[in-house]
Amino acid sequence: MATGYVFDEIFTQHDFPGHPESANRLWVVMDHLIKQNLLSRLTRVPTRPATQTELLRCHHPRHVERVEEISRRGGGMLDADTYTNAFSYEAAARAAGGVVDLTAAVLEGRLNNGFALVRPPGHHATPTRAMGFCLFSTIAVAARAARFDYGLERVAIIDFDVHHGNGTQDVLIEDPTVLFVSSHEYPYYPGSGALTEIGEGEARGATVNIPVSMGVGDAGYKQLYGEVVFPILRRFQPELILVSAGFDAHWNDPLANIGLSLTGYHWLSQRLVELATELCQGRIVFVLEGGYNLEVLALGVGNVFRALLGDADSQDPLGPSPWREPDVSSLLAKLKAIHNVV
Ligand SMILES: [Zn+2]
Repeated sequence: MATGYVFDEIFTQHDFPGHPESANRLWVVMDHLIKQNLLSRLTRVPTRPATQTELLRCHHPRHVERVEEISRRGGGMLDADTYTNAFSYEAAARAAGGVVDLTAAVLEGRLNNGFALVRPPGHHATPTRAMGFCLFSTIAVAARAARFDYGLERVAIIDFDVHHGNGTQDVLIEDPTVLFVSSHEYPYYPGSGALTEIGEGEARGATVNIPVSMGVGDAGYKQLYGEVVFPILRRFQPELILVSAGFDAHWNDPLANIGLSLTGYHWLSQRLVELATELCQGRIVFVLEGGYNLEVLALGVGNVFRALLGDADSQDPLGPSPWREPDVSSLLAKLKAIHNVV
């Protein structure tokens, strides 16, 4: 049994000059994994495009057609900051298919756990539109495949990217079989993710939004995850944990203002891996989302693989956030009241 990863060169062909969500993001990660002797310890899961059936569980047909059409014509902008080129449909479809297959390998016991190094990212893509650098709702496609193809009744998605996972939330807002937890800078792009967004209909309570103020870092995240997220995960008893792993909550990320360090990220990843062992036979799959400081991204992904492999060490040459952290006790109290956490 081993730790798996997904990578495909097509993910680096989706690229746009000068854009922060660049192909270089994956090249620095792969380079780091090779230099750290991590890649040789991992099992590669090949990619294939997600099927129409898989994509249409999360997206309207018109959206899938639109991404395919614009790619076939050579690409173009889908919103002010979401580009496509001739490779984008294939890359996004293979990102989703790759995550589905990595998850399947974990559910079938062929792999212990894994991390999908995919691009474009997915957590902002809604049922009907691409936005925020994202084309398809990759992690939601994998959650639905776990349910429809493997019969899982409870899947948890933890999204620690610095931005709210509005697309994942929109896809799953009425689905009581998926617990969706997002911690994100707030107020910030994309604007959603307020405390009061908790799911709809039968799924009320299955969405947990943790809107974090600028400057909150390792201490605040430890409290929020330790006192709210982990108890909610234990209560939900997931059969699989999926993680939208964005490294843009690092204090040195150029796009955001949260104060996590690489040590804080490693603490969070290790706790999630431990919770998967405690709750669901170790079944956990990380999926790459954002992260725009290339050094942080490479080190952060390397540290997650160490946690997945069971290594105790981690690397944090950048050290802790230079800012003083604001207190999170009032947010903690509100979260506990809304979600009935004792
Ligand atoms: Zn992000």
